[in-house]
Parts: sequence; C-alpha cells; structure tokens
Amino acid sequence: MTISPETAVHEVRRGRSSQERTAAACGEARRLSGRIVANGTLRAALTDRTIEVENPATGAGIGAVPRCGREDVDAVVSLAHTAWRAWSRRPARERGALLMRAADRLEEESEALACLSALETGNALATQARGEAATMVDILRFFAGLGGELKGQTVPAAPGVFQYTRRESMGVVGAIIPWNAPLMQTASKIGPALMAGNTVLLKPAEQAPFAVLRIFEILQEVLPEGVANCLTGLGEEAGRFLVEHPLVRKITFTGSTGVGAEILRGAAGKIVPVTAELGGKNPNIVMPDADPRRAADGILRGLRLQRQGQSCSAGTRIYIHDDIYDTVIDRVIEAIPAFRIGDPLDERTQVGAIISREQLARIERYVGLARDTAGASILCGGKRPVVQGFENGNFYTTTLIEGLPVSSEVCRDEIFGPVATVARWHDFEEVLAEANDTNFGLAAVIWTQNLARALDFVDRIEAGFVQVNQFSVAEANIEYGGAKMSGMGRELSVESMVQHFTWSKTVLINGNGAEE
Ligand code: NAP
Repeated sequence: MTISPETAVHEVRRGRSSQERTAAACGEARRLSGRIVANGTLRAALTDRTIEVENPATGAGIGAVPRCGREDVDAVVSLAHTAWRAWSRRPARERGALLMRAADRLEEESEALACLSALETGNALATQARGEAATMVDILRFFAGLGGELKGQTVPAAPGVFQYTRRESMGVVGAIIPWNAPLMQTASKIGPALMAGNTVLLKPAEQAPFAVLRIFEILQEVLPEGVANCLTGLGEEAGRFLVEHPLVRKITFTGSTGVGAEILRGAAGKIVPVTAELGGKNPNIVMPDADPRRAADGILRGLRLQRQGQSCSAGTRIYIHDDIYDTVIDRVIEAIPAFRIGDPLDERTQVGAIISREQLARIERYVGLARDTAGASILCGGKRPVVQGFENGNFYTTTLIEGLPVSSEVCRDEIFGPVATVARWHDFEEVLAEANDTNFGLAAVIWTQNLARALDFVDRIEAGFVQVNQFSVAEANIEYGGAKMSGMGRELSVESMVQHFTWSKTVLINGNGAEE
C-alpha cells in the first residue's frame, strides 16, 4: 500500500504513545481555555466567570471555559446578525465552496481534533473519536455540495402572471449540543445552517467544549468574520439566553427530552422554529428465525460501547424470542468482556470513560434499582472496573439486566450509559405493543429473515429511524430524527436543510398592468 504524505502524518501521530497524545491534547485544552470564538477569532469572553472541565478518565482538570452570560450572548449574536446579510447574499454555491474548504482544513486537523475530543468526552480514540472526526468532515462535505438545492417552485398562473416561491435564509441560528458526540453534532448543525445562508452561534456542552472551540477556530481561517461563532456556558444561562434572544430566528438543539421541552417553551414565546433531536429508549427485537450470530453481533453493536452506551439511538431494550433466547444472550454475554475498557487515548482501548461523576452516579442508581427488584438479575457487569493508572476515572462495565417488570424505571427511562434490559418474548403482538409502549420514538431494530414480518414491523413501529437486520449509526444523506418525545424535525438530509433552515417566500408578479 502506498502512503500519501497526509496518511504518513497520521501514521506518525498514531504511532505516538497515549501519554504523548494526552499531553498534546491537554496542551491544546490549556491554549483554548478562557476563550470563545467570535469576531473571526479565538478571544476572551466578556465574563470572567469560568467552568472547570475534567478528563473523565482521570477526574483531573484539563482547563476552564468562560461561563458566558447574557452580555456575551448579546454581543456575539449581534456580530452574527451583522454578518448574516452579506453571507446570505453570497451565491449559494460560493458558500458551499467555502464550506468545502473548511471541511478540507478540518480533515487535516482531524487526528488532533479526535484526540482532544477523546480527552474531554472519555470516548475511545480508536473506536469512536477518530471515526467521528471523519464523519464530521463527511457531513460538512455533503452539505457543502447542496447549494443547488436551495430552490423554490414556479406555480402555474393566468397569462401574464408569474408566481413562484423562493427559499430565504432565517438569520442567526442558535445551536445547542450535548457532550456525547460533539464533533458529529457540530457538523450536523453548522453544515445545513451555513449552507442555507444563515450565520451560527453554537453552545457546546459544558463537559466537552474544547474540540468544538477548536473546530470553530479552524472555520475562521476560511469563513468570513461573524459567520460561525461558538461560546461556552451553562445551559440554563448561556443556552437559555441564546434561545430567548430576539435576533436568533431558529434553534437547532440536540439533547435530553426534558431540556428540549424547555427550549420549545422558550422558542414559543417568540415564535421561532426548533429542530429538536432528543432522547431514546430503543427496542431491539430478535425474531425466532433470526440468525443468532448476526443478532448477537447486532445487539453488541446496538449497545454502542464505543460511546459507553451514551448514545441516543442505543438499543437498550432488547427483546429476544424464547426459541433462541439462550443461544443469543449467551453469545452476547461471552463477547462483552473482550471489549477492552481503559484509557480513551490508548489505541487498544475500545470502551472509554463515562462523561462525569454525575452520569456515573445516575447509571449506578438505575443498576441499584434493578438489584433491589424482586425477580430481576444482573446478567453481566453492574460494577466499576479497575483500570490501572486510571483509578479515579468514571469507568463502568457493560451491564445487562433480565427479569424486570415493564413498569420499572430501568425499562422506561433513558439511562444513557452501558446498561440495557433483556426480555424473553413469545407473542409478536405483545412484544410490538411493549416496544411502542414508551414516550420515546427514536430508533428501532428488528432481526428476522421473514420479509413480510419485517415490513409489518416497519409499518407499525413508532420510531423515526428503523433498521432491519443491521444496527448502524446515522450518516450524511440518511435522514435522522425521532417520533413522539424523541424530537421534531429531521437532520442530515437535503430535505431537512431546506425545510428546517430556510423559509418559503411566495411571490406573485402580475405583468398585465405593465406599460407596453
Ligand atoms: P442535556 O442536559 O439536555 O444538554 C444538552 C445541551 O443543552 C447542553 O449544551 C446543555 O448545557 C444545554 N442546556 C441545558 N439546559 C438548557 C436550557 N434550559 N436551555 C438551553 N440549553 C440548555 O443533554 P446531555 O446530558 O448533554 O446529553 C444527553 C442527551 O442528549 C440524551 O437525552 C440523549 O438521548 C440526547 N441526544 C440525542 C440525540 C439525537 O440525535 N436524538 C443525539 C445525542 C444525544 P450544559 O453545557 O450546561 O450541559
């Protein structure tokens, strides 16, 4: 295999030890500390209050970011609003060309971005952060090529009358993201928003701000001043002020259902549209005719161990038909210990650390509830593993729980960690009813070789992202989003860009009265 200069650089970087990678990423976090990205540059915020950021694998502080309040939000939204007119008037394909260049620059920096993201999220570099950086670039390139799709329609009219619609940009888009996959989520927000002619102010989660700040710093090399901005802060302060700001004309949010509902209430006060990608508690159903090996692999993939189960589309409600229950579950339980838990920046690590002590405590609370439930048993996991050299890290073993009543909170709430419930079923109508008996409706998967059964499931399952005989992740051009309380609006498709990041203006021109 020939190695291009770029690949060679990556190979050299990959060859570095985890300690060297950690040191480099810590240096980057320190450099970005105390800064936001606005005015075309990485700069200090107006506030002098800060939020400490920790390495989830060690509990050690890695830096601090500004805890921006109303003053900072006001200042940056004003800049973004000023930049909007000129940006929106640029030909769409010219905007796309700039976005494409930005994607190229991000690709050049992708290894460093992946290391920084692994450091602050606890996601393993090898199984999550590196792939996520590549997905980020791919999503931006996808949207960068969509300039030609920002078109309206002509509407038949009487002779001499011309009627048409045109798509208009919205203005400043307020974007708010969580910590579990920040590289990908940043691209999912800024790609369609910028391509459609809007400017952006994004607030990352307080736990994982640095890689996102670095992305925005890189964007400044290519995009005009004020077009892409990023500030840090708490959700209930900076996030809320952003949602309520009168010059923010569109909100795009990914996060929990509770916060999503709050954001919708805030946006309702000023009548602005919201795209909300929210939580999930997703059924993964194995039919009696499924190939047990494929189903077991699919269950493992569905657990999203590369993010320690902290994935909105994780298959955390597993239903296996009685006929093949033991074969499938034995395979899964046998495979789980082989997933190596450890230092996220070590190439050999497959499962990293839980984002925070609070999240770890939440996971332990649910597992404790299961332990205290009569008839329930922990099939595997249910404890903190010892990771040598990382004794203060937020690690947790992958946990499968059997025998819980469907009314249990463990079965009903989104835990957002490496914990799933497993149930044996006999009757398809019953299992389908149970799968739908939830307020969530994000993802759903079925394993079967019976096409009619698969299509029947697709027809009746209440979820926005449905898969048959596979459990893969969202990607560019595969529209993504939830039903019920898992959200509203869609992401990652051309239609979602047009529908959610532009509005339609209807124009009627009557030429009949014009002078001959
Ligand atoms: P979260 O608590 O809802 O926070 C998400 C973001 O919202 C953070 O930046 C947070 O700020 C901010 N925020 C909190 N309160 C706010 C408010 N009142 N107004 C405005 N912004 C506010 O979610 P999380 O714990 O970070 O992430 C996990 C959740 O995200 C899970 O429920 C998961 O299912 C969901 N998720 C959904 C998808 C999807 O595509 N459907 C993808 C990934 C994750 P802070 O910085 O203060 O936290």
